[in-house]
Amino acid sequence: MPKVTEAYCTKNRRYLANVPLSPVGIVLHSVGTPQSDAQVFYRIWSEDRSQYFTHYVLDAEKILHTMPNDRRCWHVGHPGNSKWLGIEMCEPDTIRYTGGASFDILDREKARAFCEACYRNATELIAALCTEYGWKPDTALLTHGEITKNKLSDTTHADPEHLWNGLGLPYSLNTLKRDVKAAMQKSSGSIPTKQTKPDPAKAFDKRLAGSYTVTASALNVRSGAGTDKAILTVLPNGTAVRNYGYYTEKNGTWLYVAFTQNGTPMEGYCFAQYLMRR
Ligand SMILES: [Zn+2]
Repeated sequence: MPKVTEAYCTKNRRYLANVPLSPVGIVLHSVGTPQSDAQVFYRIWSEDRSQYFTHYVLDAEKILHTMPNDRRCWHVGHPGNSKWLGIEMCEPDTIRYTGGASFDILDREKARAFCEACYRNATELIAALCTEYGWKPDTALLTHGEITKNKLSDTTHADPEHLWNGLGLPYSLNTLKRDVKAAMQKSSGSIPTKQTKPDPAKAFDKRLAGSYTVTASALNVRSGAGTDKAILTVLPNGTAVRNYGYYTEKNGTWLYVAFTQNGTPMEGYCFAQYLMRR
């Protein structure tokens, strides 16, 4: 999976509205226009030229995180916007829409290869989110098309199935669930061998140094500051950790902590809000 790049659309009205969201799952979309560069959507949404936007937009090569996951976006109408994270996949620039969800294909092979790459990136991003939130793919995943079919929210779009079907790709919500589960299994199997070295801290304050206790029921330890960073391990409530004054500010304070887990000394970043000084 390409690195997830934080690119919040801070001038968009949905960002500024700052309506809180506690997501219960994910809706996968495709953009409905032949635009293969995710950066273009970042620019449009940043300038607030579209009232519709999602938490992530991805293409064949990159994934942009355009809205923090705890703020409501606008992508499936009511009540879906208040429930789900949205992910938009770009569409190949070798198709031309002829009306609604119908399109002509200028270069079938190129269009299919592009969609295959987007599908792979979406699968891995969704697997990472399911792991982070503890979601089961069978219940947490939807497409905009499935939402429409089952009247789960008040919009009537057919994406991304219209694109997959139109290009003869064997994808559906069912293949997505299957492939996300496989990706989750693969990544959890690789954790013990993956020694991720945490990012260096950006700041130092001697007054922060000391022992802390985990106050969350389960606290993620990450490879860097920010919820987009890899989870190294999870600490149960009451775990003791030590900070030596190093931290990084990223939508709040992230303390660089050291601790021992199963006899192994480890280091990483925890969100300071869930740590209490002992
Ligand atoms: Zn959609």
